[in-house]
Amino acid sequence: MLEPFAAVDVIRAKRDRNVLTDPQIDWVIDAYVRGVVAEEQMSALAMAIFINGMTNHEIVRWTTAMINSGERMDFTHLPRPTVDKHSTGGVGDKITLPLVPIVAACGGAVPQLSGRGLGHTGGTLDKLESIPGWRALLSNDEMMQILTDVGGVICAAGDGLAPADKKLYALRDVTSTVECIPLIASSIMSKKIAEGAGGLVLDVKTGAGAFMSDPALARELAATMVTIGIDSGLKTRALITAMDVPLGFAVGNALEVEESIEVLAGGGPADVIELTLTLAREMLDLAGIDADPAKALANGSAMDSWIAMIKAQGGDPAAPLPRAREMHEVLATNSGVMTQMDARGVGVAAWRLGAGRARKEDPVSAGAGIFLHAKPGDAVTEGQVILTMYADDAARIPSALEALEGAIQIGPAGSTVLRMPLILDRISP
Ligand code: URA
Repeated sequence: MLEPFAAVDVIRAKRDRNVLTDPQIDWVIDAYVRGVVAEEQMSALAMAIFINGMTNHEIVRWTTAMINSGERMDFTHLPRPTVDKHSTGGVGDKITLPLVPIVAACGGAVPQLSGRGLGHTGGTLDKLESIPGWRALLSNDEMMQILTDVGGVICAAGDGLAPADKKLYALRDVTSTVECIPLIASSIMSKKIAEGAGGLVLDVKTGAGAFMSDPALARELAATMVTIGIDSGLKTRALITAMDVPLGFAVGNALEVEESIEVLAGGGPADVIELTLTLAREMLDLAGIDADPAKALANGSAMDSWIAMIKAQGGDPAAPLPRAREMHEVLATNSGVMTQMDARGVGVAAWRLGAGRARKEDPVSAGAGIFLHAKPGDAVTEGQVILTMYADDAARIPSALEALEGAIQIGPAGSTVLRMPLILDRISP
């Protein structure tokens, strides 16, 4: 096949700060998937994009080219309106678990194609896999059936969605080109648009435990993703939310499932409830459904949807959840008020206890993690347990304790507690 471009010319154009043309973008993504553009050439192009950026038009075109590299799901025949959410990931972020059944109980259909965790933030599939029997891999037919019957499904994304992104993301990971707004925005949105829901709410996290720790950059990422969504005909909105402190009290797979079930049962931590309901309201609004998600929690219908969802994927919602056998309590070193809890430190500690993985092929421990007994703003007394660590292997505890060094601060009573508001901003076209 005669190629219409040479990779070296596309690289040079971006290196010299030119805007890539639509045909150049379409070709370079397609040729990369076909193996015509070599890994070293795509590495150079990714670095040129990292340094020189892209216009909004280029980002939208790049995203479309990545979507066109694979299949696009179609839910238009479902009897319910489809709507999805995506979180950029945080410590203790189990919101998807109560959120999907709440929206389903209100009449929406949520096709949530999730991933496994890498690094200090957990993955939704890892959390659900701590439920005995539950399986993440579904055929498209099974997924459609569960969406029709229950209204919510959380399962593994197939390899067919945006394969260009899969290849490029792996390359960016080893060429130091991940932290680049045009490449992150196009990567996330190519998968979400290919997923085919009618609406999308983005939860872009900021603060120490988020990968966009600077709120200004989180806003820029959110605005870029909303632009891509709208330009592609997907109703999209974004919230910028706090990840300076872990969400809720539980960090770790089974621990987070337990906390999510508490929320569905009408209890649970205030921050998890508030964020879940805020995201649910945005999703229902995008889906054109006039329902109060708080009622779905209060009247038990969200819990019924959760039980149906877990059963439909082979899980036993009544089975006891695993808990790692080794336990270590961390005590307050002085009395006063907790002024700080660094989400990243807690996330890295939970990861080292076995809740997360360093390489994508590593196993995770379902029962490992951290339970927090106090959060910033709480009064604490010297000797009081402030957190409990769980691990399958006691040898993991010292390095987890090391990750927590300096992460938790206790000041004298009356000290100022600096915390981000839970919802910092909302970006809607
Ligand atoms: N998540 C993604 O899917 N892609 C990125 O580039 C970064 C985070």
